[in-house]
Amino acid sequence: MDSNQTDAVRSTMLDGNAAAGLLSEIFISEMTSSSIECANCGREGELGTLLAFLQAPGVVLRCPACEQVILRIVESPEAIYLEARGAAYLRLARTLAA
Ligand SMILES: [Zn+2]
Repeated sequence: MDSNQTDAVRSTMLDGNAAAGLLSEIFISEMTSSSIECANCGREGELGTLLAFLQAPGVVLRCPACEQVILRIVESPEAIYLEARGAAYLRLARTLAA
């Protein structure tokens, strides 16, 4: 990919908060403040800080430090597919009873 192609791709990029609705459908709760670690470079941060590409086939969330793919989400009429091999971990907070 040359720099013009890279610029064109980046112009369609949003932050990870753009995927909040789809993530809440998968995980039930609000996810953008959940911690996630990039398996490639070790960057840790909130899911909402990832780079979101919504115009790919499905949703692609990339690391803002190394730009490796962390999460891919593809929807079909019957199911939602989540691929998270780019994440070392994703922290899902428990809702504690008061
Ligand atoms: Zn990274």
